[in-house]
Amino acid sequence: MRKKYTSQDFTNGVPPKWCQGCGDYAVFKTLTTVFAHQTIPKEQYVVVSGIGCSSRLPYYMSTYGFHSIHGRAPTVALGVKMVNPHLSVWVVTGDGDALAIGGNHYNHIMRRNHDVKIILFNNQIYGLTKGQHSPTSPLGLITKTTPFGSIESPVQPIPQAIASGATFAARVPYTDMDLLGEVLTAAAQHRGTAIIEVLVRCAIYGEDLFDSPTSDNTKNNTILLKNKEPLIFGENRDKGIIMDSFEPKIVSLDKVNKRDLLVHDAHRENANLAYLLSTMSFPEFPLPMGIFRQVSKPTYEDALHEQEQKVIADQRQHGLLDTFMDRGTWELKNSV
Ligand code: SF4
Repeated sequence: MRKKYTSQDFTNGVPPKWCQGCGDYAVFKTLTTVFAHQTIPKEQYVVVSGIGCSSRLPYYMSTYGFHSIHGRAPTVALGVKMVNPHLSVWVVTGDGDALAIGGNHYNHIMRRNHDVKIILFNNQIYGLTKGQHSPTSPLGLITKTTPFGSIESPVQPIPQAIASGATFAARVPYTDMDLLGEVLTAAAQHRGTAIIEVLVRCAIYGEDLFDSPTSDNTKNNTILLKNKEPLIFGENRDKGIIMDSFEPKIVSLDKVNKRDLLVHDAHRENANLAYLLSTMSFPEFPLPMGIFRQVSKPTYEDALHEQEQKVIADQRQHGLLDTFMDRGTWELKNSV
């Protein structure tokens, strides 16, 4: 029988080296609590990170871990998972790490559906390297590298993940630890790649970045996605979302029939609705929080295992020499 754990069992006593007020603390605390409540034995957890403030997290966990190289955490994590499919493998990464240098890996791990969970700490800034703009920095943001305001369109991590085939995609603000716990628990139980974008505050270089959607008047600025429920939000829950000519539109509930409201369905095979919701951005729309997409599909590891078994059963011995001497090779003969 699995030992009963507490969140303390997943921390190693090393004091985290994050600034006071950094959002990373909340994710760390919630993650250790979620790990403690799963049925997974402690020795089966592996936490892999890239480079950045958030990527220090494996140092503070009492699990197996790997502080890998910039942007490459998904490659290390999927390697770990492929050689030992029994492990629960998690990637901890930031917006710079995952979406700039690691942007390529981000897309490919989604489409291949490796059974790896990715927590993307999105603070919209490079914190560790002292405040440069990142791929998710909003247009116009003044930073050390954009002194007159960023002129780049920001990457939207969730639409990008869904467009790449993510089978589980969610967004949570670090300020809502209950929702974060629910989403991380669902991710832990999902088979396939799970991407969880956590909106975290960098207390030093991006203090105000998430204030509007997550702190002030959140009932107007965010909308909680509840499966099979209509999209309703607002201080008095008096506003909703409908579709109007293939575009979402905010309406007052007293002006529409409730049956016309858009209903969320994270389990829908077709990803179009999840994609559409994930593109709704603040301040034009309330920022959606919760699980956008959660569908079943064979994992890469399943497909690999199935192929291996088939080849073994067919007794097709195909060694390196066979590959070299197969069709498409020829012998060079000296004409002299
Ligand atoms: Fe957190 Fe920002 Fe400090 Fe890094 S620089 S530890 S992201 S508050």
